[in-house]
Amino acid sequence: MSAALFRRTKIIFTLGPSTESEEMLEKMIRGGADIVRLNMAHANHDWTRTVIRRIREVSARVGREVAIMMDIKGPEIRTGDLAAPIELRAGEIFDFTVKPRSDLASGVEVRSVDVNYRNLVNDIKVGDTVLVDNGLLRLEVLAKDDAHIRCRVLIPGPLSSRRHINLPGVKVNLPAFTEKDRADTLVGLSEGIDFVALSFVREGKDVEQLRAFLTGQKSTARIIAKIEDQSAITHLDEIVRACDGLMVARGDLGIECPFEDLPVIQRRAVRTCLAQGRPVIVATHMLESMITQPVPTRAEITDVANAVYEYADCVMLSGETTIGKYPLECLNMLDKISRRIEAEDDLETREQAVFTGDRMKVLHSAVVLANQIPGSKILTFTRHGFMANGLASLRPVRAPIFAVTPHLELLRQLRLLRAVEPLLMPFSAEPDATIESAIALLRRTGRIAPGDKLIIASDIVSQERLIDSVQLRTVI
Ligand code: PEP
Repeated sequence: MSAALFRRTKIIFTLGPSTESEEMLEKMIRGGADIVRLNMAHANHDWTRTVIRRIREVSARVGREVAIMMDIKGPEIRTGDLAAPIELRAGEIFDFTVKPRSDLASGVEVRSVDVNYRNLVNDIKVGDTVLVDNGLLRLEVLAKDDAHIRCRVLIPGPLSSRRHINLPGVKVNLPAFTEKDRADTLVGLSEGIDFVALSFVREGKDVEQLRAFLTGQKSTARIIAKIEDQSAITHLDEIVRACDGLMVARGDLGIECPFEDLPVIQRRAVRTCLAQGRPVIVATHMLESMITQPVPTRAEITDVANAVYEYADCVMLSGETTIGKYPLECLNMLDKISRRIEAEDDLETREQAVFTGDRMKVLHSAVVLANQIPGSKILTFTRHGFMANGLASLRPVRAPIFAVTPHLELLRQLRLLRAVEPLLMPFSAEPDATIESAIALLRRTGRIAPGDKLIIASDIVSQERLIDSVQLRTVI
């Protein structure tokens, strides 16, 4: 990507019928998408394998390697099958049943639906709220026994089969990483996915459980923790510490938490990630109206802009690119809004964030320098992503971060980071020779030109020891 095409905020899109063809994938990758998300709530394994291979083939042909994020479903409660949708009436008494109907005590005269989680009767209390189908239906728990949960309908509407249930504020004792998640992840790992996004992370140990599984599989896939409920907000700090990146999953958050809290939660989550040096994704409903319309609402434009102003690493599309009529227009819209906001003069510097460790302090000095020298660019070298992640988390205001790596897997994972442009290049045994080759690569590809100020954050050899360094060079 030439300097003119450089966008600091990264774009994730969710793959679906609107974007899964080779032709559309090519357009999305050429159009600047950085990460493709596979939502395993709607995917089978054959489709998953097919599309992962297709994404890799198209990326190779286009010459732009995008990353793949497998979003696993996590603990989820759903209603069972109904012969036909039923219309719930306001004030109606309605049962959720957790045992096969033949087990139910006789004399239950109200209408009911099964639920796929038997232990629900133990987790839920009288007075709790049950939300069904993204909150379209609202019920209040009146009573329960070991077989059913009796409710009153507060917000009526139609109920059809296998609808998602949200229980705001209820601690659900389902495992964080389910059997289905395990099976899905194994397919993803066998196809070399780059990120696993874990849904409904409630505390740090949920992430650690997935980490142990990935380590056991000798996988280098990075973990994105999706925060979607009140427990995640309570445990935000430990979740951010445990994960490799956070997703503010506003779809479920907006159901599980008071809706007016959502902007506050988003801002707090982004700031927590910045303070701890973790990348952060703002997701869901960014351009929802563009599922059916070619232009966004004014409020959607401002929502995207807000995420860019907040310094999120990524913005994400869901329904807009799975079933939407205008996926490419959505991508272009995110691209355009991001660039416009990134060009503003009043972006704050974040270089004052508190970091420990000498290496972080060296990277900090590189970012201070970059913010003081107009037009400067940062070059770094990274085998495990630490240098690139550290620099990105300090949010240089204008300078791009060229992150050179010898590893293709890491190059894809670096697509997550704000302002980082990853480049693939083998490293020499001598750090100086590696620096010279990288400068030549940047010049050859038009990313730097004579007279440019280049700030290089790298290892150098001194008295046979590797030491962290920052250099300021004028390109000749
Ligand atoms: C969300 O709830 O915002 C989200 C991204 O999760 P999912 O699409 O898996 O429901």
